[in-house]
Amino acid sequence: MRFVIIGGDAAGMSAASRAKRNMPELEVTVLEQTADVSYSACGMPYNIADPEREMEDLVVRTARVFREKQGIDLRTGHRAERIDRNAGVVTGKTAQGEPFEIPYDTLLIATGASPVIPNLSGFHLPGVLALKSLEDGRRIKNFIRSRGVKRTVIIGMGYIALEMCEALRSRDIQVNMVKPRAVLLPWMNPRLTSMVREELERWGVGIHLGQEVKGIEKQNETLRVVCSDTVLEGDMVLVAMGVKPNSELAAGAGLDLGPCDSISVDGTLRTSDESIYSAGDCADAYHVVTGKKTWIPLALRANRAGWAVADNVTGKRTELQGIAGTAVFKVFDLEVARTGLSVGEAEQFGFEPAEVMIESRSRAHAHPGASTIGVQMVSERKSGRLLGAQLVGKEGAAHRVNAVAVALHQQMTVEAFSQCDLAYAPPFSPVWDPMLTASNQLLKQA
Ligand SMILES: Cc1cc2nc3c(=O)[nH]c(=O)nc-3n(C[C@H](O)[C@H](O)[C@H](O)COP(=O)(O)OP(=O)(O)OC[C@H]3O[C@@H](n4cnc5c(N)ncnc54)[C@H](O)[C@@H]3O)c2cc1C
Repeated sequence: MRFVIIGGDAAGMSAASRAKRNMPELEVTVLEQTADVSYSACGMPYNIADPEREMEDLVVRTARVFREKQGIDLRTGHRAERIDRNAGVVTGKTAQGEPFEIPYDTLLIATGASPVIPNLSGFHLPGVLALKSLEDGRRIKNFIRSRGVKRTVIIGMGYIALEMCEALRSRDIQVNMVKPRAVLLPWMNPRLTSMVREELERWGVGIHLGQEVKGIEKQNETLRVVCSDTVLEGDMVLVAMGVKPNSELAAGAGLDLGPCDSISVDGTLRTSDESIYSAGDCADAYHVVTGKKTWIPLALRANRAGWAVADNVTGKRTELQGIAGTAVFKVFDLEVARTGLSVGEAEQFGFEPAEVMIESRSRAHAHPGASTIGVQMVSERKSGRLLGAQLVGKEGAAHRVNAVAVALHQQMTVEAFSQCDLAYAPPFSPVWDPMLTASNQLLKQA
């Protein structure tokens, strides 16, 4: 049986490795358009922060290991351009422009996502860069080094923008951030958002909210980001306006699409064609709270979905539960975390939400080093079901969010969550962990 995979990063290579391990006689071919496979995209901002580190440090497993040790027919520099479902064939071109044609019995589309680049003037000027692939990371690092970048403008304020802001500030590069919406993190409780904003300002970051970007101009060596009411100047511009799923191949082959034009899959990762699977950032998923389809492109799901496809292809039927949208990121000295639904999302999905916002301490009262931790918790008023949580703090936000994520997977009520036996010792939390304090307060709202 020929198992062909399009895309050689988290989802694609997880699937290839596991399929080969499960069934060594399976013919596994991976088509990857770039020269890079299996690397940690998530580590790129931290790598860029350190001029001494090579981008290659982020490669988890090299192409040679996949080919020679695992027996995977890994073809880099191979871009898939068309899927012929009737013939069971993928066609495309190599980096040298040679056409190729690969037959499949089972196909996995694991093409990931691409940065959103608006169709405005100046977004293709040299020095206007986005960060998605390892090659993008190299490009940014080389540009900073070769041009001696001192000032940057970041368009967008999502987690990649914020991580890159920290990376650039740590290299003493000035940063101005700009976005059209008037709110920094629209999904977040305003008190938590202001904690993030204060942290950015403490590190000297310029925040320009409610500024529509009209285009980018070049004047000598300076890039000028022209906004509705201001012009921001930099030696480099980072475009971090979000990502979109790479679903054109699937759409061209007539496969069903889901939210945000991601590829629609069932719990077993099968698309609307039973011999084609899709996994990772290009595919949708069920949300464990709403039970509805959603598109939240994150790394754990990509790796897990790749494994699940491999199991299904090699005869071990596997159905995934879905995702809670659990995410965490660092903004200088703050940890920012979320899982499940925000109040706005809860309303959008027809829940009548109750919410609480508390501020507690990360360690026991009077224990040295304790800092403020803010927790917002959301429940459904009628049933008391826990719907989501958001946390911001200097320490302890990142690991605490996982307790709520588990509760969401188990569809727990706030009352049941408030009875959980969470760990306590003075260096790690107050006796009543902030998550328990939040749930106790939320119970009073219902
Ligand atoms: C800077 C950054 C930081 C991140 N940080 C985090 C984090 O902290 N936590 C987290 O959970 N997630 C994070 N992510 C997201 C995470 O990296 C992705 O969720 C994950 O990489 C998705 O894996 P994937 O295999 O689905 O897609 P990708 O990693 O995008 O891989 C898809 C591959 O398919 C190839 N491809 C596409 N089209 C074709 C074609 N037609 N033919 C051949 N090959 C093709 C691409 O070249 C690419 O190599 C981050 C992402 C970035 C960019």
